[in-house]
Amino acid sequence: MSGKLAIDGGTPVRDRRLPYGRQWLDDDDIAAVVEVLRSDWLTTGPKVDEFEQAFAVFVGAREAVAVSNGTAALHAAMYAADIGPGDEAIVSPMTFAASANCVVYQGGTPVFADVDADTLLIDPVQVEAKITPRTKAIVAVDYTGQPCDYDALRDIADRLGLTLVADACHAIGGSYKGRPVGSLADMSTFSFHPVKHITTGEGGMITTDDPELAQRMRVFRNHGITTDHRQRERQGSWLYGMVDLGYNCRLTDFQCALGLSQLRKLPGWVARRQEIATRYDVAFAKMPTVEPLRVRGDVSHAYHLYVICLDLTRLRATRTEVFAALRAEGIGVNVHYIPVHYHPFYRERFGAGPGLCPVAEAAYEQLITLPVFPRMSNDDVADVVTAVHKVVEAYLR
Ligand SMILES: *Cc1c(COP(=O)(O)O)cnc(C)c1O
Repeated sequence: MSGKLAIDGGTPVRDRRLPYGRQWLDDDDIAAVVEVLRSDWLTTGPKVDEFEQAFAVFVGAREAVAVSNGTAALHAAMYAADIGPGDEAIVSPMTFAASANCVVYQGGTPVFADVDADTLLIDPVQVEAKITPRTKAIVAVDYTGQPCDYDALRDIADRLGLTLVADACHAIGGSYKGRPVGSLADMSTFSFHPVKHITTGEGGMITTDDPELAQRMRVFRNHGITTDHRQRERQGSWLYGMVDLGYNCRLTDFQCALGLSQLRKLPGWVARRQEIATRYDVAFAKMPTVEPLRVRGDVSHAYHLYVICLDLTRLRATRTEVFAALRAEGIGVNVHYIPVHYHPFYRERFGAGPGLCPVAEAAYEQLITLPVFPRMSNDDVADVVTAVHKVVEAYLR
């Protein structure tokens, strides 16, 4: 099975590339969308309420607010937390840029706190070290689908009067100490982009137990207007008041119908993601150059991503070379993430850059994301393991 690498002209493990993530749509999902397309309400109708209520029940939160994407969900949360010019929010660097961009949308300053070396989740000790009199919020990211240490973060937030936001875009279906993701922070944000656990094409959600925060986010997503079209229709009134400068980041009814249909399948899909992760765990336990991220004992991991760290001291190749070799074998590997503070925007605007978060920076050099999505077969999983084994063996010192 080993032998000449595909990148050197050998035969690839797979002819057709396996993607790192992919949506799953069945006929019933399509039928649910078509039904709404034939109805009276294409947007701001009954399916929005239905999806919000089902989602809130799923995560054990009182309120859920649907928005147009996960980035809008983060923006709405920063608005509801009243972040403004002069305010700081503490953010993980090991995430997609949107987790920090949302602070900047509101005129605030993101302050990067380094991650734990084993899990790459924001380190509560580093969070505490970055607190200033201007700190107003913490944006914790459940990187790869593992919930952060919310008891420790809650303790810091409560002592200092900060708003705790969970960017849970990776972690729907996970839990921490038996409590579901979506109920672990003041506000939790989700994305329904096709690579995420469930999809509405584009879409997002924020969950909270605080009805005041929920109301602020409903106003935010609808131009800063306090009532929506359907509420005015019911009241037979044309009057409305715009109380603040909001945006239009509503989610349509046909998208919410898709979300509802997808949500029913989520528990089975999370279980399948966990099964795939266990198969990887077992295989990589026998490969000393490949180290999966550590999973704490008090969580249920939702596995949006399966990330490995390469022991580069034992390899004659860089991460970039291993990445290229795996792609050549037909495995759609990826890298999550370029640390946010490396991006030119954050260097130029906030004086960020290398040196700010050494743990995240060192991890970034070693990371590779492997494919994980519920529709992967066990043969697909075996192909990934074969390719990883083939490539690390070929590059062994
Ligand atoms: C996907 C994602 C987002 C953004 O969601 P969109 O729906 O693409 O706007 C934000 N944060 C994290 C951690 C994500 O994975």
